[in-house]
Amino acid sequence: MAGTEWRERAACVDRDDLDWFDLDCNLQQTLPICYACPVANQCLEVAVRYRCLEGVWGGLYGKKLHEYVMEHRSNHAEVDADA
Ligand code: SF4
Repeated sequence: MAGTEWRERAACVDRDDLDWFDLDCNLQQTLPICYACPVANQCLEVAVRYRCLEGVWGGLYGKKLHEYVMEHRSNHAEVDADA
């Protein structure tokens, strides 16, 4: 992952009014933003790297986020071990 510049291009960069961790209240508002986000892949990569399982990351949340992170964590472990 190259730096954190991608965060400046995130669709949520100016959406401090929304809580990406409050799934009960905000999914209807946050998901469309994530689906249109140009850096959703980088967002998911952060979720994988730091094992973020709460909230919405790259348009995924709950069980699908958990499955994605755990599946791709094993790939990271292999990469990290090779480093
Ligand atoms: S995909 Fe990630 S960076 Fe993009 S809007 Fe959603 S939470 Fe923000």
